[in-house]
Amino acid sequence: MLAFQPAGACEAVRSQLSEYLDRELGPDERAHVTLHLAACAACARVALELALVVGALHQLSALRSPSGRA
Ligand SMILES: [Zn+2]
Repeated sequence: MLAFQPAGACEAVRSQLSEYLDRELGPDERAHVTLHLAACAACARVALELALVVGALHQLSALRSPSGRA
């Protein structure tokens, strides 16, 4: 499914990825990002890498490390 991606679509999606991964987007926005990731390998790769980072950060915050800030 290779939908046409308008100019700026990738930037818009990438700006929403952190919220997407945190499930903070509304259903319409979430569906839009999901569709874009299915059609855009570049953004799907960014999303995957961000998911790993976000997952790691969540695990770190769960530890409540007192020396977590540089
Ligand atoms: Zn894209």
